[in-house]
Order: sequence, then structure tokens, then C-alpha cells
Amino acid sequence: MATMESLIGLVNRIQKACTVLGDYGGGDNTFSSLWEALPSVAVVGGQSSGKSSVLESIVGRDFLPRGSGIVTRRPLVLQLHKTEDGSQEYAEFLHLPKRRFSDFAVVRKEIQDETDRITGKSKQISPVPIHLSIYSPYVVNLTLIDLPGLTKVAVEGQPESIVQDIETMVRAYVEKPNCIILAISPANQDIATSDAIKLAREVDPSGERTFGVLTKLDLMDKGTNALDVLEGRSYRLQHPWVGIVNRSQADINKNVDMIVARRKEREYFATSPDYGHLSNKMGSEYLAKLLSKHLESAIRARIPSITSLINKTIDELESEMEHLGRPIAVDAGAKLYTILELCRAFDKVFKEHLDGGRPGGDRIYGVFDNQLPAALRKLPFDRHLSLQNVKRVVSEADGYQPHLIAPEQGYRRLIESALNYFRGPAEASADAVHFVLKELVRKSIAETQELRRFPSLQAELAAAANEALERFREDSKKTVLRLVDMESSYLTVDFFRRLPQEMDNKGGNPATPANPANSANPAIDRYSEMHFRRIGSNVSSYVGMVSETLRNTIPKAVVHCQVKEAKHSLLNYFYTQIGKKEGKQFSQLLDEDPALMERRLQCVKRLELYKAARDEVDSVSWAR
Ligand code: GDP
Ligand code: MG
Repeated sequence: MATMESLIGLVNRIQKACTVLGDYGGGDNTFSSLWEALPSVAVVGGQSSGKSSVLESIVGRDFLPRGSGIVTRRPLVLQLHKTEDGSQEYAEFLHLPKRRFSDFAVVRKEIQDETDRITGKSKQISPVPIHLSIYSPYVVNLTLIDLPGLTKVAVEGQPESIVQDIETMVRAYVEKPNCIILAISPANQDIATSDAIKLAREVDPSGERTFGVLTKLDLMDKGTNALDVLEGRSYRLQHPWVGIVNRSQADINKNVDMIVARRKEREYFATSPDYGHLSNKMGSEYLAKLLSKHLESAIRARIPSITSLINKTIDELESEMEHLGRPIAVDAGAKLYTILELCRAFDKVFKEHLDGGRPGGDRIYGVFDNQLPAALRKLPFDRHLSLQNVKRVVSEADGYQPHLIAPEQGYRRLIESALNYFRGPAEASADAVHFVLKELVRKSIAETQELRRFPSLQAELAAAANEALERFREDSKKTVLRLVDMESSYLTVDFFRRLPQEMDNKGGNPATPANPANSANPAIDRYSEMHFRRIGSNVSSYVGMVSETLRNTIPKAVVHCQVKEAKHSLLNYFYTQIGKKEGKQFSQLLDEDPALMERRLQCVKRLELYKAARDEVDSVSWAR
């Protein structure tokens, strides 16, 4: 069963992972909240009050740059990870992920260099934190933040604003409600002038998350002691004050090592006439334990809110993953499968457009119901069957020999040339439907959520679909033109048979040349205006009949050749092409926007982390 120890370790791991993912403190990162929900410890105090020294003695290792003046110029986020007894101790920087440092002198050098990298070798400061993790069997699980010291005046080489800048930076850390404040004051200064206490009181008036630490007890004037402070009489805090004796500059220069320093500190308190009675509540080892214990209870108290935050974040991440799409498989077979799945998804959307689940298919009906009939109505038959033209065509067809009964050749020519006009609307129907289909392909690609991530596949699909549509259009045009040709290639017997009767029925005037054979003066009648008008009107009624037929058959042909084909075999050719491709080409088809891939990677990592966190938090919160 998980213990509290492992829970602190877990919090540390979560924070570590958060930092690797760029999810730490403030900023505009939407995922920073978990980091902020987890307790951390920040060290606050005036310059040279001993902040870095305190951190070092908590860690039990020399690794921080220390000294007089402004040494700490960037926040240092220090994560201590307790490892198994006997394991090798090492440190790792976030900015140098692959390097393990086992020499802590090199760690110190790297902190200095990394500070300079951002601030230059000046006395400038930067709020960009340095992240350092220490893995050791000798540390307690803790996250500590070392901050630049608060100052009162800008020194040579610093901008006037530095005093305020440092305060703003420090405040940003300590005002977070989950930040435990390690307020460092040197014992050789009046506590009333402590910058640390001043700031801590502002952001934590009740003192519930402030730990007062008094350094440099050994440097106090002879004959004075800090008992008033340490026993809480000078300034009351909820937690007891802890006195510390760090190494002096002289010790540091002499390379007094940490083990020796800790022993010396223990001896100092044990033998001190002033603090002897407090000796088991003083010193850096005690401080480390105190902090770790407090951290435990802080985490325990926050388990419910941490759990709900983790759950909320998991939900957010999952919906983001949904939005980004699942990661793509690696092997060729799975890739092919993915491509086919994506094609099917597109095809489904496309079909919905045609079948009416989505809008757009109705525009095809519009072509047949409006555009085609309108185009047919607009055909210039009036002009074509004008008296003048009928006369001309019939006469030309007769040649030198006038027709006797009905001008059969004339009829044929008039009808054939009239039917030619239908070619325009027939082809135009195929074109109009083609454009509707093309637009639906475009729309469907855009609407297929799953395809969003794959711009290359989108382009390929669009090209393949449009190519197919082009073929269907050609086929459709051939078919509709054939329909038109069919209407003109054989005039029905029926038509010719009906001609005389119709004329009889319609005419009603016995003198009219409805039946030229019966006419008294066929020659005159035959060429009278009435005669040609009648021819015109007969042709017109035939053309009208054909028009009616084509109005019905053109849509049938277009639907058959274009719409149905699009519905059933739009991607057939594409599928056969895909089948011939190889793994590498699949990858090309599935290459995503790199930014998106990166985003998903982050998302996956976070999800893993948060899910692991949820499991562990769950098991800890049940273990009592
Ligand atoms: P920071 O600026 O607050 O980080 O302070 P540092 O940790 O860099 O310490 C400033 C100087 O004070 C260094 O030279 C330390 O050796 C010295 N110092 C810090 N704490 C103590 C202490 O308890 N006793 C003595 N004698 N010197 C100390
Ligand atoms: Mg420092």
C-alpha cells in the first residue's frame, strides 16, 4: 500500500513532469494549475541572509553558488527525490535533460553558467527559473525554490527598477496559497528589519504557511542571543522558529564539507549555553524533517482538491485528444487500415450529403427541377420555327422538285436541326451536377473531423475524388448526348401517321391544305403561309414532346452516370492505387502538421502522468 512518503514522492514526480512539459507556475499555460495545486517550498529573505546556504544544508550537498552580493539571480526550482538506499546520487537539469551530474561542484558551475546565459555576466536578474532535480538516498522528498534576495538599493550595474523587480518576482511565488514560505532572517540583524518576515506577513497574514528560519546564530554579538525570536516572543508564527548555523564564508573557502558542517551545527546547538534546551528543535536536519512533515499534512489536506483537479484535467486532456485524434500506428498494415478508415469516414459524410443527412444534395434536384426545365424553355425554337425559317428549310429540302403531299425531307431537317439545340442543356446538366458534386467533395473533406490532421491525405483524396467525378461527367455527357441523338435519329412512324389526322382535327376548315390530296388547288395551298405555319406548329409539337421526354431522361442519365457512381465508386480508383503503395508512401499520406503532432505528444505524456497520478493519489487516500 502506498505510504505518505510515496505520496510526497508522487507530488514531486508530478511537479517534475509538469516542468518537463512546461507546466509550471503562472504564465499563460492552461495546464499550470496542477503544479500550483501542489505544495512547494520557497525560500525568501534579504540578500546574503543565508537562503542558498539553508537550502544546501537541507539537501546535505554543496551545489549552490553562494557568497556576498547578488549571487542567486534566477529562481532555482530544486526538486529532491529520495532514492533507494545505496543508490548513486546524481543531479539533472531540465535544460540538459540527457546529462547526469554526479559531481556537485559541476552542478554549481552549471547553475552559474545557466544564470549567465539568460542574464549575461551582469548583476541583472531574470524570472526564468532554472530547474534542477537531485536524486539521492540522503534527501527527503521536497520541492524547494531558491529565489534572489530582496534588496533595498540597486548597486552599480543594476537598473533602478531591480529592487521592485526582485520583489515582484518573489511575490509571484510566495503569494500562491500552496506555497510554503521559508522566511530567512539573519540573527545578526534586528528581526524588525527582516525583509522575509515583512513579505511573508503580507502574503500570509495568519502565518499558517510561513516557517521562520534564523541563520547566522554564530555571528551574533557576544553576550546576545536570539531566544526572543526562537521562542516566538519577538514575532509570533504558527510554526516554531528554527535556528540554523550554516557554514561561514571562511568554511566555504576552506572547503569544509557538508557532513562536517552538519556535525558542527549539531555540536553548536548541543553545547550552546543559550540554545541547549532547544537543541533537538534546531538545525538544518530538523528543519528538513519539519518541512517534510508539514508538506505531508499539507498534501493530505489537499488530496480531495488535488484529486478533483486531476480528474478535471484528465477530462480536458481526453477531450483535447479526441479533438487532436489518436496517434497513428507505426506499421504499414495499420497505416493502410487507418487510411482506409479515414476514406470511409469521408465517404460516409459525402453520402450523407447526397442522401440528405447533410445539406447540398438538394442542389442536384434543383438542377433537374429548375435549371434544366428553364434551359429547355429558353431554347430558341420560336426563331427556329418561324414562318420564314420553316419556309426556307422546307424549300431547300425540296430542291428543284416541290413536295407533293407532306414535305417529309423538310420535316426531317427541321426536326433534326431543332433537336440539336437540346445538346446544350443536356451537357449543361452534366456540368451543373458535376459542380455540385465537386463542391460536396470539398465540403465533405472539410467536415470529416478525422481528416483534419492529415493535410496530405486530404489533398490526395480531393484529387482522386475530383478525377473520378471528371470521368463520371465525361461518361454522363456522352450518355445524355446520345439520348438527344436518339431522339433525332428516328422520327416515330406514329408522328408521321398522326400528322394528317391532327391537321384534320385541328383545322376544321375544309379549304385548308390539311390533306393536300383533297385540295382543290394543291399548288397554291401547299405553299400558302398557313401551310408553313402548320408545318412549323407540327414540328413544334414534336419538339415539345421530345423536350418533355428529355426533361425526364436527362436527369435519369445524369443520376445514373454521375450521382450513383459518385455514391458507390467515388474512391474505387483511389483504393486500387493505394493498394499498390508501400509503407513509406502511407507515412507520407499520413504526415501531420508537426505542431499538431507535438501537441498530441504533449497531450499523451500529460495524460499518462495524470492518470498515474490519479491511481497513486487514489491508493494513498485510501491508505490510513
Ligand atoms: P543568500 O544570498 O541569502 O543566498 O545567502 P548565501 O547562502 O549565499 O550566504 C551569504 C553568506 O553568508 C555566505 O558567505 C555564507 O557563507 C554566509 N552564511 C550564511 N549563513 C551563515 C551562518 O549561519 N553562519 C555563518 N557564519 N555564515 C553564514
Ligand atoms: Mg542565494
